Amino acid sequence: MRMMSIASGSSGNSIYVGSDTTHILVDAGISKKRIEEGLRTLDLCGDDINALLITHEHSDHIGGLGVFLRKYNVPVYATEGTIEAIKASGDTKKVDMSLFHPIRNDERFTIRDIEINAMSISHDAADPVAYRFKNEGVKTAVVTDLGEYNEVIEQALKGLSAVYIEANHDIRMLETGPYPYQLKKRILGKRGHLSNEACGRLLSDILGEKMQHIFLSHLSAENNLPELAYESVRLEIEMGDTDFHGNDFPIDISHRDRPGMIIEL
Ligand SMILES: [Zn+2]
Ligand SMILES: [Zn+2]
Repeated sequence: MRMMSIASGSSGNSIYVGSDTTHILVDAGISKKRIEEGLRTLDLCGDDINALLITHEHSDHIGGLGVFLRKYNVPVYATEGTIEAIKASGDTKKVDMSLFHPIRNDERFTIRDIEINAMSISHDAADPVAYRFKNEGVKTAVVTDLGEYNEVIEQALKGLSAVYIEANHDIRMLETGPYPYQLKKRILGKRGHLSNEACGRLLSDILGEKMQHIFLSHLSAENNLPELAYESVRLEIEMGDTDFHGNDFPIDISHRDRPGMIIEL
């Protein structure tokens, strides 16, 4: 499998996951043009995409969806609640709604040679999910926008070869930062976003022999710094109840404004 971050953060998210013959995008929260530019670095174009998976309806995940779908007839997979919320947002005017395929959270489905599990996550959206992918015994996952995680998520993320995981904020930077009280409370809440520390703890629980690459993603521009996210996550792994160390795996920060490296698994 191959995996690449096209863009990551509250200004827009889009992630590529594919095999030799199957090409999937998770979320379309950036412009069609930027998605096309990202795909070009993979020698792909919009017509090559076999499926677009949406995690939830927040604008940083669907902001470019309507424009993308008006140009490319790509089937879209999302939970019923997410599809309803997307329709209500009005972003998909003049889009062929027969492209939308409802999936159930905690359900498994297949796009050509990639098996996909949608997993329910705790976030303040209609019916948000994370996705796990499997192809030829290699497993990877995209897990962003969650305020907390449970044992079901921990179990589902074991045995991965790569994980694209949220490290949204440094708790102290958020607490002392400029955001209004209500917004701070929302981000720190159970249906908010994963802190660097919580990300490191979740990683400690799921790290295994097969892990080859960790993408830290959805970093807050105001309440985090790339080096801080990296160091906090490594420290949590060092202190965590795991045989692995913070330096055992490449940990890469996904950028807000440009594609990251292409990872071959
Ligand atoms: Zn988001
Ligand atoms: Zn969100």
